[in-house]
Amino acid sequence: KYKSYPYERMQKVREQNISPSLRMYYKKPLLLHQGHMQWLFDYEGRRYLDLFAGIVTVSVGHCHPKVTMATQKQLARLWHTTNIYMHPSIQEYAEKLTSLLPDPLKVVYLTNSGSEANDLAMFMARLYTRNFDIISFRGAYHGGSPYTLGLTSIGLYKHGVANGFGCSTTMLPDVFRGPWGGSRCRDSPVQTVRKCSCSEGVCHANEQYIEQFKDTLNTSVPKTIAGFIAEPIQGVNGAVQYPRSFLKEAYQLVRERGGICISDEVQTGFGRTGSHFWGFQTHDVVPDIVTLAKGIGNGFPMAAVVTTKEIASSLAQNLHFNTFGGSPLACVVGAAVLDAIEEDGLQKNSEDVGTYMLLELAKLRDKFEVVGDVRGKGLMIGVEMVTDKDSRHPLPDEEINQIWEDCKDMGVLIGRGGLYSQTFRIKPPMCITKKDVDFAVEVFHTALQRHMEKAPAK
Ligand code: PMP
Repeated sequence: KYKSYPYERMQKVREQNISPSLRMYYKKPLLLHQGHMQWLFDYEGRRYLDLFAGIVTVSVGHCHPKVTMATQKQLARLWHTTNIYMHPSIQEYAEKLTSLLPDPLKVVYLTNSGSEANDLAMFMARLYTRNFDIISFRGAYHGGSPYTLGLTSIGLYKHGVANGFGCSTTMLPDVFRGPWGGSRCRDSPVQTVRKCSCSEGVCHANEQYIEQFKDTLNTSVPKTIAGFIAEPIQGVNGAVQYPRSFLKEAYQLVRERGGICISDEVQTGFGRTGSHFWGFQTHDVVPDIVTLAKGIGNGFPMAAVVTTKEIASSLAQNLHFNTFGGSPLACVVGAAVLDAIEEDGLQKNSEDVGTYMLLELAKLRDKFEVVGDVRGKGLMIGVEMVTDKDSRHPLPDEEINQIWEDCKDMGVLIGRGGLYSQTFRIKPPMCITKKDVDFAVEVFHTALQRHMEKAPAK
């Protein structure tokens, strides 16, 4: 037990000395002590299955021994910035990372957070194209910095101050919640229950969404643009997936207008989608810039922008410096994470265990009216809660909260997302097993059952 600093005192200090904008999860936030692989432990010795991986940052497992060992070794040697000297770690890491990316994505710039990486990606897009406007999806989260806040399009994160000059949003091709449902057109083992007009081989939902995208390009932005940024599967908004060929067609339209395409792989990268190492590969596209964060360091603060030689050179006209980005410590952590993903077979595990989980969760969707949609790919999963499948109205917050708190009390931690906070986000450390899934699904089942027994008859 943690005795020397009582919980009540922590709460008081939080109220007085820590920014109130940092909101915590649960009525009584967990007091964590330790993490090991897919598990977290609190000071009472309770164990939790972490299905949210510290907001998708823990890719290979909490305190993965390989990453911990590598970090400890480097900590004892050198960890200040080496950006003005040579140190082998950054070269080794850049070589390893770029070997996993297709041509021409071969030049790396290391930063410390996803916001910083997306900031830099926007900057490069503007410098390279000499255009200014950037398009993102509604419902996107690409960061909280002044630049990226313009791309972020979730009201909860907006602050009513001037931001995002030259940023426009476009309709989100969401086949569950959007106006055109696509019951066969998303790249997931589980399709929506919504009927749509797709016929064999032809996705009409995609056609409609592409028309909307063209509309944005034709009517809302200048004739030439700097770029378009999207995640392969939208993360904060609750694992929203687009029709299969949407991104491919959108990329082409953006390039026709002089823009470059940025894939935000902060959540979808490093094997999480299972079938591929990078999310963009699941859409059969090659972006001009990819941005990486969160899982790249398994919880260690590091991030990266990877781009082409030509785009990278746009930044070389003058100095652009980052004190901590690419420190020996970060590079050693990053390399150990890549090794762990390979040695532990985590991409394949994401695919196997993720598919298994999606199919198990789909059974709950079929059983419970309030489970509106189960979607995702690999271990990038969303479970959208609704009052009923016909209206798709978000389930009221108090009801979702109860299910969520119940899961926590039974030992399963789940993330939240979506514009109405209506979607459970399941993005665990990629070392999770099928046995863990059985446990989690049983817990979720129990919480849903309790909800059903309590809920007023509709
Ligand atoms: N992009 C995406 C897709 C994210 O989910 C986040 C963080 N939630 C960011 C960018 C910003 O990352 P950071 O919090 O490290 O600045």
